[in-house]
Amino acid sequence: MRIYPFTEEYALYLRDESRSVGEAAWICFPACEEDVREALAFAREKNLCVTTQGGRTGLAAGCVPHGGLVLNLSRMDRVLGAEREGDAVLLRTQPGVLLTNLRKAVAALQPEYGALFFPPDPTETTASIGGMTACNASGARTYRYGAVRRHVEGLRVILADGRSVTLRRGEQMASGRCLRLRCDDGSRVFLPLPSYRMPSVKNASGYFVKYGMDAVDLFAGSDGTLGVITEILLRLMTLPAQIWECGLLLKTEAQALELTDALRRSCPRLASIEFFDAGALRVLKDRKAKDASLRAIADVPDGVQALLFVEIHADSKEEAFGELERVTACLKDCGGDPDRTWFGWNAAQTARFKEFRHAVPESVNMLIDERRKTHPQITKLGTDMSVEDKDLKRVFAMYREGLAELGLQSAIWGHIGNNHVHVNILPRDPDDYRRGKELYAAWAQRVTDMGGAVSAEHGVGKLKASFLETMYGPRAIGEMRALKQALDPRGMLNPGNLFFI
Ligand SMILES: Cc1cc2nc3c(=O)[nH]c(=O)nc-3n(C[C@H](O)[C@H](O)[C@H](O)COP(=O)(O)OP(=O)(O)OC[C@H]3O[C@@H](n4cnc5c(N)ncnc54)[C@H](O)[C@@H]3O)c2cc1C
Repeated sequence: MRIYPFTEEYALYLRDESRSVGEAAWICFPACEEDVREALAFAREKNLCVTTQGGRTGLAAGCVPHGGLVLNLSRMDRVLGAEREGDAVLLRTQPGVLLTNLRKAVAALQPEYGALFFPPDPTETTASIGGMTACNASGARTYRYGAVRRHVEGLRVILADGRSVTLRRGEQMASGRCLRLRCDDGSRVFLPLPSYRMPSVKNASGYFVKYGMDAVDLFAGSDGTLGVITEILLRLMTLPAQIWECGLLLKTEAQALELTDALRRSCPRLASIEFFDAGALRVLKDRKAKDASLRAIADVPDGVQALLFVEIHADSKEEAFGELERVTACLKDCGGDPDRTWFGWNAAQTARFKEFRHAVPESVNMLIDERRKTHPQITKLGTDMSVEDKDLKRVFAMYREGLAELGLQSAIWGHIGNNHVHVNILPRDPDDYRRGKELYAAWAQRVTDMGGAVSAEHGVGKLKASFLETMYGPRAIGEMRALKQALDPRGMLNPGNLFFI
């Protein structure tokens, strides 16, 4: 495999979707595990740090290099095959397989294995399964099916020193707070697990640690700091016979919050509850007016101040109808109008809703890109925090109060079913950016005080390292560092992720 000096032609590989830009001296594109080993040996010999990249769709700058060697895994893009284990179907893949191709591969299994699916859906289908595993990504359907970690059955990982580890769920377990990791060559690495308690909310902040935990759960969600994931074994699920989706158009945000609570209480067949606020709908409307490629995206009627999408997964039409009736009843109880809904009951129709949902973040990114032409130092400030059910209204009040006080433009959307919305502060100039950053830091502290998480799905990467310390405190950060050092004493892999260098 060739390792190239980093030149202008690779500029693309210095950034991800957070719009942060890094620097690098070398870049390589391994096609197999042996290539990864070779790249790591090169880095060790030259004393370089290594930044692993998947699809570069991350929003926390996790794959943005801090010098050294870029290890881009986009060529490790083969689906290696399916296997049965009892009633379950497992799919083995290389890490560079994009979500869109993973879905095609799962659909192609149907004649032999039946209709299956991989539930996590982080909206952006050019994300790679390696990146999704490293971030423990989630998305809309996590409301019902959990994040990626829950669907990972096994991993192969190459450590900084070149040793490989093959993990199957249930085979390498911690004893209390200590994990004696067995490498493929029979050697062992003693891993001291941190002592912090993870919050009971949706969470992708720092290492997963639990008494007696599984080693698979440690590497999944480790933001690429502990090793390079070279193979993933996924547990697939049976595709629900009926997947229906509704868009509930609401007159107020307060109605959306009430309705979320009601849906959670009354509707057991929902796979997701997604939210868009008036600010997000406005940015989309403005972008639509300028961009012909968005013409097919549905228009939102005037007067709509909030939009909830709910996805129903059911085993039969009767069951799906029953759930739809319950959704409608909740909507009426919360003062909504059942005639003001969008409804899709087949793949083509629900795909249009997905396009709508995806067009919102894309429109926001384009708006910020335009503003960056005048103010290159600003970026979107997108939060990723989650709280418990009881704190949903409280956290919304906190967001609204802060934004109004500082007069900042914003667009809020996301996974309200998990009390996890992305508040996107949209700075107009460097002053807005500075004040927005201060506001975000203050929110991180208050969410921590509520027992929430500072990153619920995007991972901590480089952008939220200070919030991780806010959430867990300096002692826990020290314990996380000690864990990393046991596997990567020189701090070679993904420096800057999780903790400052
Ligand atoms: C429009 C849009 C919408 C999005 N919506 C969601 C959403 O709803 N939910 C959600 O969870 N995310 C969402 N994301 C964020 C993003 O898609 C996810 O974070 C995804 O998991 C990143 O995958 P990637 O392959 O692009 O990883 P990258 O950005 O390339 O890398 C992410 C991190 O993983 C590490 N990494 C990558 N591959 C490996 C590997 N093989 N071994 C070890 N470490 C590795 C990198 O070093 C980095 O730290 C969205 C992004 C966009 C642009």
